[in-house]
Amino acid sequence: MEYQPKKKPKRFVAGAVCPKCSEMDRTVLYTSDDGDEVRECISCGFKQTASEQAAEDQARQLESEALATRVTPLGKAVLDEDEAPLKILGIADKAD
Ligand SMILES: [Zn+2]
Repeated sequence: MEYQPKKKPKRFVAGAVCPKCSEMDRTVLYTSDDGDEVRECISCGFKQTASEQAAEDQARQLESEALATRVTPLGKAVLDEDEAPLKILGIADKAD
């Protein structure tokens, strides 16, 4: 009798960098028993499901949005060189 296990093909993710060991092209992508996509680093064994990654991506996006709103342009008036207030210090006449 021939038993054929459910095939779970692993494929490499080109250009993917492992968030743990920073190795490139060491990440394989496959589907877990739960039907979740899993990324696994064959270099350090780091594993992350697609849902975990989505949550992480979302957190990162929220963070960058928060940063973007923090950088508010200053309503600073720009003076031309000629209009710049000229202050000359130390030339005050001595009244003594
Ligand atoms: Zn790794």
